[in-house]
Amino acid sequence: MLLNEASIYEHLKPLQGQHIALVFAYLTSETADALFMEYMGCESNDMNSFTYSQRTSLWEELCAIHGMGVIHGDLRLANIVTLDGSDPHFIDFTHGSLHDCKGPAECDELTQAREFLLLLEDSDGKPQ
Ligand SMILES: [Zn+2]
Repeated sequence: MLLNEASIYEHLKPLQGQHIALVFAYLTSETADALFMEYMGCESNDMNSFTYSQRTSLWEELCAIHGMGVIHGDLRLANIVTLDGSDPHFIDFTHGSLHDCKGPAECDELTQAREFLLLLEDSDGKPQ
């Protein structure tokens, strides 16, 4: 599982340090694996604690992830972190996989994300 997550983070390397956590190292041995990465804050427990702007930022971040050909695979509050009220970010790509995204109007995860992030949508499938 950690190897998959490490490979997803590697695939998303251009987004590291901006949209997703910066990965410093992935170490593996016969007895243990470890992924060393940037701390991006605490888990969330209420979507309503985020402003509309923060939720829109999460949407744009997820679109960027899909644009890089990755599906997160496990969208839930426990996988959103924020540090001192800054823009929240998605973490935990354990269930991530490569994905040929057809865009917000046709992608199942992006469709689910609009509802999950409490964002209204226009006819193009983008948040208003
Ligand atoms: Zn997609």
